[in-house]
Amino acid sequence: MAMVKCLVCGAVFEAGAEVCPVCGVGPEHFVAVEEEPARQRGTDRRFLVLGGGIAALSAAQAIRGQDESCSIVMLAAETIPPYARPMLTKGLSGSLEESRLLLHPESWYAEQRIHLLTGQEVTAIDTAAREVRCASGLTMTYDQLIYALGAQCFVPPIPGSTLPHVTAIRSLADARKVRQEAGHAQCAAVIGGGVLGLEAAWAMKQLGLRVTVLEVAPQLMGRQLDAGTSAMLAQRLAGLDMDVRLGASITEITPEAVRLADGAEIPADIVLVSAGVRANIAPAQAAGIQCGRAVLVDDHMRTSVPGIFACGDCAELNGVNMALWSEAQNQGRTAGVNAAGGDAVCPPENGALVLNALNTTLFAIGDCGKGALAYKVVTQPGKKPDSYARYWFSDGTLRGAILSGDLSSMARVTQLVQDGAEEQAVL
Ligand SMILES: Cc1cc2nc3c(=O)[nH]c(=O)nc-3n(C[C@H](O)[C@H](O)[C@H](O)COP(=O)(O)OP(=O)(O)OC[C@H]3O[C@@H](n4cnc5c(N)ncnc54)[C@H](O)[C@@H]3O)c2cc1C
Repeated sequence: MAMVKCLVCGAVFEAGAEVCPVCGVGPEHFVAVEEEPARQRGTDRRFLVLGGGIAALSAAQAIRGQDESCSIVMLAAETIPPYARPMLTKGLSGSLEESRLLLHPESWYAEQRIHLLTGQEVTAIDTAAREVRCASGLTMTYDQLIYALGAQCFVPPIPGSTLPHVTAIRSLADARKVRQEAGHAQCAAVIGGGVLGLEAAWAMKQLGLRVTVLEVAPQLMGRQLDAGTSAMLAQRLAGLDMDVRLGASITEITPEAVRLADGAEIPADIVLVSAGVRANIAPAQAAGIQCGRAVLVDDHMRTSVPGIFACGDCAELNGVNMALWSEAQNQGRTAGVNAAGGDAVCPPENGALVLNALNTTLFAIGDCGKGALAYKVVTQPGKKPDSYARYWFSDGTLRGAILSGDLSSMARVTQLVQDGAEEQAVL
């Protein structure tokens, strides 16, 4: 099967896609990826892959790439095959059709001899017996285990956060619930002004709702953007008649409103929470696998227990988990190759993010002044009105960049940041 890689976000997917399923850029940013030939035949090893996201899928695919005859079983709690999770907010104002979201049709799993068991929630791992148990009563044994249970949304324990009109979008079921509720709602409050919060807010606006974005920090997308770009974004929201409250401290959610500490009452018959994620580590912890905020892994995706690998949003490599698609995909592939006996090292993650909403486009990659370095910041006007490229250098080396309003140089900038280009090569 022909595969391509998106030069912007690093996602790898089947050739022929009209847009990247992760960052939404077009085919001019895709390059062909060569497939590795399968290495081993005639083994009867049993690989068990826990999870049904991109990390699990990439691991299963990599195992099959290494071993033509082994048994591969995936256990996934959701009832549909792996899909493009990033499209849940990007496509929220659209139809959320399953056929457009699936990464592979069901027939693909049969062709690859990957046994995908959906609707199976893993509850326990017995590392001594090499056995996994599910809530359904199903028990499976393994020779090598991939732990790829992802993450779930963090919902701050605000009074009222469990009310039925409060949703954090992680699954297709969540997105469909919000889509349905939006049909008879007038106003939405979005808690969290990060990239996913802004995508969801924009979708609500496009569906005709009055929208308020509530961000506890003093700026929008504070993890990626400098103060100037954030301020520009806040102005853009205001210009689109969307309310933005920065430094917002929420005291309560009621069925009709979100209350703030300053006494403000934000009307909301839908409340969307986008306040980060927490890794799904409970089964790993209970099994005695070492965890920090997520399952601890080395650069081969090995956990503290021999024969068990972890990858994706549930894994922590060198104290870091960016919870990004390309990171989960690369880690999944690395875990799969190594579980099958290969020797792969996980490539570094560039942290690239695209915001394609609010009638604008933004691209941020690398360290845009958030580290502890002494930075030199250079801004160059772009080709379109009000567009710009902003670069962060330290010691003459490019560390990060933001493109605002004109993403035509995204692929070049991605390469420059990845290469740690010298200042004169960039400007
Ligand atoms: C709305 C949204 C938009 C996003 N947009 C972007 C973006 O633009 N760019 C980007 O890089 N990243 C984006 N992300 C993040 C990206 O989707 C994740 O980093 C990626 O999906 C992580 O993949 P994963 O396989 O590690 O975990 P997940 O996608 O969380 O998959 C884990 C799977 O395991 C299943 N599972 C959990 N517990 C169990 C259990 N006990 N038993 C069995 N199965 C279980 C879950 O149901 C899930 O199917 C977005 C995420 C969301 C939610």
